[in-house]
Amino acid sequence: MKNILRRIVSAGLVLCMAGALASCAKKKSMTVQKDKLIMATNAYFPPYEYYDNSKIVGIDAEIAEAIAKKLGLELEIQDVEFDSIIAGVQSNKYDIGMAGMTVTDERKLAVNFSTTYATGIQAVIVPEGSEITDVDTLLGGDYKVGVQQGTTGDIYMSDVSGGVGEDRVVRFSKGNDAVLALSTGKVDAVVIDNEPAKSFVAANEGLTILETAYVEEEYAMCINKNNTELLEAINKALKELTEDGTIPAIIEKYIPSKG
Ligand code: GLN
Repeated sequence: MKNILRRIVSAGLVLCMAGALASCAKKKSMTVQKDKLIMATNAYFPPYEYYDNSKIVGIDAEIAEAIAKKLGLELEIQDVEFDSIIAGVQSNKYDIGMAGMTVTDERKLAVNFSTTYATGIQAVIVPEGSEITDVDTLLGGDYKVGVQQGTTGDIYMSDVSGGVGEDRVVRFSKGNDAVLALSTGKVDAVVIDNEPAKSFVAANEGLTILETAYVEEEYAMCINKNNTELLEAINKALKELTEDGTIPAIIEKYIPSKG
């Protein structure tokens, strides 16, 4: 009798544990760390992300903050090299990558992208008075082009078709370092996204942006391919925050429309 009781009790215990595990699995956090949204960025890309004293601010930081709030999560921003963001999202080190990141077919093989929240343009910065007056001159000549490592500017420029080819590309880990190299004559032009380009040109004398844009692109957040729950939650939040005017107001704050 005792034995039977014992068996019933232990069977019950096993069932309870299985139940606990199942409910535990159901409540599994959709983010890497419970209650947190960990965003990887490269905080040298104004006005999308940059340091204001020791705080990372900018369009991406504010949109991420609004999304985290909507999802009931606490935002944590980690400043890393741009070209380590996708790998970190793939290995679940970070929940999202948000860094003025362009949606490309190749990146789509590695990560999922959210809905687009901004447009970017690859611009060409040259010294004032440069003989490079348009993109064709840049591509046709024997010029050295500075880029930020792993960015679309790097990818397109390094390609011989459409770009200038590897031999003429000089890679820097930060966009600003490429611009400094341009100021000191180490490269002849810099290809970089137009909004950071404007900030860099404003901060460094003697530089100008060519009127002809190189490529137009779309920015989105990247998310681990297996985490469709987070992707859907973020897309829903993005939609609501666009419709209620939050995102347009954040963009307007950092990139005031003229007039
Ligand atoms: N938009 C570019 C890219 O995705 C550059 C982004 C960046 O430098 N933060 O490659």
